[in-house]
Amino acid sequence: MKRIYYLFVFAVLSTMLLAGCGHEHDFQIVSCDAPLTCAICGKTEGEAVGHDFSKATCTEPAKCTRCGETQGEALGHDFSEATCTEPAKCKRCGETQGEALGHSFTEANYQDAAVCTVCGTTEGSPLTPGFEAHGLKINATLDTDYPYVTDTYDGEADTVGTARISDFKICRNDSRLPEKDGYVWLSIHMAVEFTDDAAWMHGYRPGICLEDYYDIELHDDTFRNYEGYGLPEAYRAFANLTNYSTYNVNFHGIDYECERFTVPNEDNGWMGDHLARSGFTYYFHVPEGYDGTVAGFYHYDFAHPWDAGLYIYDMADDNSLFYKLDPALASND
Ligand SMILES: [Zn+2]
Ligand SMILES: [Zn+2]
Ligand SMILES: [Zn+2]
Ligand SMILES: [Zn+2]
Repeated sequence: MKRIYYLFVFAVLSTMLLAGCGHEHDFQIVSCDAPLTCAICGKTEGEAVGHDFSKATCTEPAKCTRCGETQGEALGHDFSEATCTEPAKCKRCGETQGEALGHSFTEANYQDAAVCTVCGTTEGSPLTPGFEAHGLKINATLDTDYPYVTDTYDGEADTVGTARISDFKICRNDSRLPEKDGYVWLSIHMAVEFTDDAAWMHGYRPGICLEDYYDIELHDDTFRNYEGYGLPEAYRAFANLTNYSTYNVNFHGIDYECERFTVPNEDNGWMGDHLARSGFTYYFHVPEGYDGTVAGFYHYDFAHPWDAGLYIYDMADDNSLFYKLDPALASND
């Protein structure tokens, strides 16, 4: 009997130990504002657990991953500037806004392709030079004798002479030439010589032409010869200057007024039997770096006169000679 009593007491004590201070606490998060709490007995441990905030995004504030409570504001997008090819774009999340701006292209000109003034992208090519568009060839080189066919003075026959282009210079030290900002003077010598019977019998009629490589029409349509209208004072230093003229060229998209004049050789004409010479120095005042001046010889043909409205491409034939004055190739004077 006494033994049974002891067993009973032990059982009661054991039960009391387990149910009281004897169980293993099962601490759990019950809310962000409460400390860990035992699921069995409600005992708490430490401080409130606090929120577990995610990072704020462009469109959402920071948000507790447990309870959903938010903190602060959404960051808002951090847009880059739109570019020619891309819309404004958030540097964080990549969201875009609006449209790409599109390029702002300049117009192509004879020297430059169209170029975007914002980003520098080019499009296409420079304009096709008039000489190329019309199939005219730059076919002469300096200091070379070329057979040259033109009409006799009376137009009765053809004469075959010799043409020669020489002395291409940049004139930087000729005090007779008026200076102008951004311009440079070029000079070149063009000569013909006739020794055949046709010239001896009928005279000769050289067809020298001064042209523009890039915009043939602009050159011709703006051409103005001052012969008979008085020469600008500045040019009186050239004793026998003739054909002072102005004309426009387009260089990098800008029209420049150019000047030119002619100084004939002192010994032009018949040198003796069957030998006639004609020579001229041409001066051109063109924008610095301009390489579109063309000096040429064409067949002066009475049967096909150079009437108003005709251009060099209407007059030239396969025997025409053209030299392009590229200042990079000139000698300095
Ligand atoms: Zn507990
Ligand atoms: Zn929370
Ligand atoms: Zn964003
Ligand atoms: Zn652009």
